[in-house]
Amino acid sequence: MLVVEPQKVLFVEGLDRSHLESLAQAAKGGAPVVGIGAGTVMETAKYVARATGAPLVQVPTTVSNNACFTRAAWTIVEGKRTIARDMPIPRRIVLDPDLLAAAPTRLNRAGIAEILCSHTALHDWRLGHEVGRDVDWDDGLERLARAELRALDATAPLVGANRQEGFRAIFAASWRFAPGFSSHPKARFNAGSEHLFAWGLEALAGRKVLHGEAVGLGVLLMSFVQNNRPDWPARILKTANVAFMPEDIGVTWRDVKEVFDRLHISASAYLWYTVIDAKAGPERVNWPERGNFAAAKNFVMSLK
Ligand SMILES: [Zn+2]
Repeated sequence: MLVVEPQKVLFVEGLDRSHLESLAQAAKGGAPVVGIGAGTVMETAKYVARATGAPLVQVPTTVSNNACFTRAAWTIVEGKRTIARDMPIPRRIVLDPDLLAAAPTRLNRAGIAEILCSHTALHDWRLGHEVGRDVDWDDGLERLARAELRALDATAPLVGANRQEGFRAIFAASWRFAPGFSSHPKARFNAGSEHLFAWGLEALAGRKVLHGEAVGLGVLLMSFVQNNRPDWPARILKTANVAFMPEDIGVTWRDVKEVFDRLHISASAYLWYTVIDAKAGPERVNWPERGNFAAAKNFVMSLK
């Protein structure tokens, strides 16, 4: 695939900030940074390109997440997931059909959750807008995200059948979202309380949990909390054959409850107004939905 010999080939061992800094040191010299891999590599390539000022090209090998399109990068600082912002926009994003077809289908299927999360995100964004907590509300962006959500009814069966056009549809939807990540860096149209849950679960369980599957479970739980048609995302996830039961995604219900019960605390690290704030109040001292965890769990269990 590469038509010129790379000046250097650097392997990514994780997202620890010190490792990323050493990769950036090694990459110095101005040659374009080409990220080839899954989410961790996409995050790393963004970070290295920003640190070196070199042009960025991303070659995702799976559509399991939308990291190549977003302007933030996840890094680990002293064991804590820490976001780095203002990452460069790639000069090119290349989706190689052969690479995509070679990726594990479970990874590719999970990518649909990165579009589906707009279902809960838009609800949260509107809640914030209504109480004057989010100043970047945009009707056009909401319309775009709603259209992409509606399109999932047609995309999900293709994804569930492991059809390449289904995986390419996930990529294309993320592509259409990409300008919104630059114009609206908080990305409220595509991330909200479901991501707060997913990040909490990832922090607890580590890399054994797949981002898209954690997000999918987050969409189910938080759409239930929002009283926001949870049956619809459930149908999409089931049709797309995306795992979301804790035992199927590498965690336990105890883990899920631990993350859920602390949402009002973990959410305070982010400047988003979501259903968590709406229920917990401005001080976030109490999270009354803890009392409804059993009902949310029952809903997810009923989907077996
Ligand atoms: Zn995500």
